[in-house]
Amino acid sequence: MILYSTRNPREKTPLDIAVMRGLPPDNGLYMPEEIPELPTAFWQTFPEMSLPEIGFAVSKALFQGFIPDEDLRGICKRALTFPAPVHKLDDQRYVLELYHGPSLAFKDFGARFMAELMSYFNRDAGQDLTILVATSGDTGGAVAAGFYQTPGIEVVILYPSGKVSPLQEKQLTTLGHNVRALEVDGTFDDCQALVKQAFLDEELTQKMRLSSANSINIARLIPQSFYYFEAYRQLLAEGDRPTTFVVPSGNFGNLTAGLFARRMGLPIEHMVAATNINDVVPRYLKSGKYAPKPSHRTLSNAMDVGDPSNFARMENYFSGTDGSTWNNMREHILGYAYTDAQTEETMREVEQKFTYILDPHGAVGYRAMDAYLANHPDHRAVLLETAHPAKFLEDVERILDHAIEVPKRLASLRNKTKVATEMNPVYKDFKRYLLS
Ligand SMILES: *Cc1c(COP(=O)(O)O)cnc(C)c1O
Repeated sequence: MILYSTRNPREKTPLDIAVMRGLPPDNGLYMPEEIPELPTAFWQTFPEMSLPEIGFAVSKALFQGFIPDEDLRGICKRALTFPAPVHKLDDQRYVLELYHGPSLAFKDFGARFMAELMSYFNRDAGQDLTILVATSGDTGGAVAAGFYQTPGIEVVILYPSGKVSPLQEKQLTTLGHNVRALEVDGTFDDCQALVKQAFLDEELTQKMRLSSANSINIARLIPQSFYYFEAYRQLLAEGDRPTTFVVPSGNFGNLTAGLFARRMGLPIEHMVAATNINDVVPRYLKSGKYAPKPSHRTLSNAMDVGDPSNFARMENYFSGTDGSTWNNMREHILGYAYTDAQTEETMREVEQKFTYILDPHGAVGYRAMDAYLANHPDHRAVLLETAHPAKFLEDVERILDHAIEVPKRLASLRNKTKVATEMNPVYKDFKRYLLS
């Protein structure tokens, strides 16, 4: 599999290097040179496939022989260990629950798959790979869980002391084994600066194999396309109707993965981009002008993004054919944006109507799904529920005005003991720690 940089189509890189590097040297994003259609044989066995089998078939087509079949099958089997069930609300409304992984959010799929790929590509290096992650809270939990007990990989997580929620801190500091946490007496920017300096330190990089677990790594995007197939497969029993996916979006990685699935032949009618008031993409779809701006804090805070990193991938995806990028994009993607008040109202409405509890991100999507279906009465829609409501316990209980159930894997975190090394934001201390 060959990837190019969104900044320069002539800058080409094989899969293993793109995964280990994360970003092209020109600071663009890696995009697959080819997103092939799946062969007819795939569709014949599709109705009976498991999620790991779908993952294998889809990644095999994308990787084009880069990883031998048996190895790739093992990677998919080890990475895809939790389900992606579709919950039916009514004949037109379905919810794809992506929160059954260790950190209760869809990012677990990307993190697990990336961990397996990195471990695989590092297998002959004769030295462990050390992943450095600076986190302001949430993504660190998925990465930590994703790399947990992955052979040949050590993880060092840096987080700002006192600036992540107690539960998030537990997710980062209670795993142990190959995951170590550094509690930095400073800000998230301090954490990030330490990581950046480590990558630039030649003395250090000669002694250690370092990599990052960047959210825009192509290895995180690819597995997110698998569950679009998995959702569609579950809908086969529901009869034939045009099917649209609704994606609560921030950096638009999830939505971009849906575009990949579509190009590979999954019959997706439209993609719906649902955002909170950080609505750069819905605005672009309306006006043709891409105008990034500082983000505002909302209830659905994983979507508080003012300049979505995957927009460059979306532009590349829709360019190059007839007509303008904008026209191509808005033919396939419809944008909707909602306020926090609307989000809260929607959570209460959905609970009343369906006795189903959505998290704030999913609620933004639900509202967009309703608006979309009002204009497309013959279609059905699948909402990607990106996180478990218990992840946002205080907000959800306040909005619904009652206690909600907390999954065991989250509840048990409270009783686990935090293990973290305290550190000042001083590079030579960090370096000494890494080398010790
Ligand atoms: C990361 C995240 C999103 C946004 O996903 P993108 O791929 O960045 O668009 C939405 N909801 C939740 C719960 C998230 O954690």
